[in-house]
Amino acid sequence: MIESSLLIAGSIAIDTIETPEARRENILGGSVTYALIAAHRFVPCHVVGIIGSDFPQEGKDLYQSLASNLTDLQEVEGSTFSWGGRYSDNWDERETLYTDLGVFGNFQPLLCEENKDVKTVLLANIHPELQTSIINQSEADIFILDTMNLWIDTTRSQLEDVLKKTNILLLNESEAELLTNYSDPLKAGTELLNYGLEKVIVKLGGEGALFINERDQIRVGAFPVEKVVDPTGAGDVFAGAFSGILAAGGNEVEAIIQASALASICVEGFGAEKILNCSVEDVSDRINYLQSTLEL
Ligand code: AMP
Repeated sequence: MIESSLLIAGSIAIDTIETPEARRENILGGSVTYALIAAHRFVPCHVVGIIGSDFPQEGKDLYQSLASNLTDLQEVEGSTFSWGGRYSDNWDERETLYTDLGVFGNFQPLLCEENKDVKTVLLANIHPELQTSIINQSEADIFILDTMNLWIDTTRSQLEDVLKKTNILLLNESEAELLTNYSDPLKAGTELLNYGLEKVIVKLGGEGALFINERDQIRVGAFPVEKVVDPTGAGDVFAGAFSGILAAGGNEVEAIIQASALASICVEGFGAEKILNCSVEDVSDRINYLQSTLEL
C-alpha cells in the first residue's frame, strides 16, 4: 500500500466563465486541476483523467510540475472536455451554459498497478459510473467523494451505489438538501451517514463548513473574503486540500481549516490564477483566523 500519497480522479477541462463583471474563454479548469493545485501542497499526487489533442502545452506543463505520477492521464485524439458557466448578479446561482464531453464521452479509466495501491483516493466531481470504475480497480483504504447537483438529479441510483462504497463525502448545503430533503445541514449530514459513510462534510459557503461523524460535529467559519472574483473551482480546491491533509496523516480539524483557507483564496481570482500563485503568508493568516472560528 502506498501511504502518504493521493490518487485524484475527475475532470480536466477547458472552461469559459462569465461573472457579473468579466468573461474569460478557454481557461484551464476541471475538478482534478483545482484539486491537484491544492493537494500537491501536502502530498505527492497521482492523476487519473483524460485530455484531448487540443489540450494546451501550458496545461501539460502545469500537470507535469504539480503531479508526481501521470501514468493514468490518458491523451487521445479529439477535444478536451469543455464547460461554460455563468454566475448570476448576486453570485447566488450558477448556470451551466454548455458541457461538451469531447474525449470524456468514451473515457474508460484504467489504473496501473502502482495506482491501484495508493491508500487514499479522491473521487473528484465526475460521472458516478467512472467513480465506480475507479473504486472497483483500487485497493485503497479511504475513498473521499465529491459530486454535484447534476449527478444527484440525473444519475441518482448510480451515485447512491458510489455513496455506499465511500468513506468520506464532501458536498454543499443545496446538494445535501437535494439528497435528503433536509434543509438543515446538520440533519442532512446526519441522515447521509446512513449510507454507511464514516464522515460527511457539508460546505456552507459564506457560513463555513460542518464536519459530522457518528460521535462529533465540528464547525468552522468562513474567511471573510474582500471581493469574490470567480467562485469556480472552490469546491474542488476544498476537496483537494482536505484529501491531501488526510493522506499526509493530518486530522480532520487541520484538513477542514486548510481546505477552507485555500478555497477562500481560490474565489479571489479568475479560474486558478490566485490559488496557483498564493503565498505561504496569505494561507497562514487565513488559517489563524479560521482556527479562531472553530466550534468543536
Ligand atoms: P466547482 O466550481 O468546484 O463546482 O468546479 C468547477 C469545475 O468543474 C469547472 O472547472 C468545470 O470544468 C468542472 N465541471 C463542470 N461540470 C462538470 C461535470 N459535469 N463533470 C465534471 N466536471 C465538471
